[in-house]
Amino acid sequence: MPAQSAILKPRRRANKPFGLSSYRERDQIVRELGFASYREYLDSDLWRTIRCRVYRNKGGFCRICKAPATEIHHNTYTRRVMGGADIGPLHPLCRSCHKSLEFAGNGRKRWPKEVRRQFRLARRAARKDRRDAAREPSLRPP
Ligand SMILES: [Zn+2]
Repeated sequence: MPAQSAILKPRRRANKPFGLSSYRERDQIVRELGFASYREYLDSDLWRTIRCRVYRNKGGFCRICKAPATEIHHNTYTRRVMGGADIGPLHPLCRSCHKSLEFAGNGRKRWPKEVRRQFRLARRAARKDRRDAAREPSLRPP
C-alpha cells in the first residue's frame, strides 16, 4: 500500500498550475530562434515552411470538424516544434474550432495545458458525433 503522503501529493508542480509559464517559455524559445516576438515568428519564412509541411503531411482539413483548415494549431511549444524538427503537435484546424480551443466561453485565453485538454475532448466529441451520424441517418446534416 502506498504511503499516505504519496496519495496526497499534488500532481502539478506548485508554480505551474495549468502550465502558467508555457507562453513565457514559448516566447523564450522564439527569441532563441532569433525572433523578437511570437508575432514575428508567425510572419517568418521558417513558420511558413513548417505550415506547408503540416498541411502536406496532415491534409487541409480541420482535425476536429473536418471543414477546410485555415490555421495551424500548436498543441505544444517545444524547441523541436518551434524549430520545425517535430510537426507531431501541429494540427490543421478551421478558424472556428481553433478559436473555441484557445478561448474559454467568457473570452479568456486558455493556458496551453487547458488547450491540450480541450483539443482531446473536442476531437473525441466530434468523432462520437460522426459515429452517431453514420449510425443514425436522420441525424446527418442535410
Ligand atoms: Zn473545425
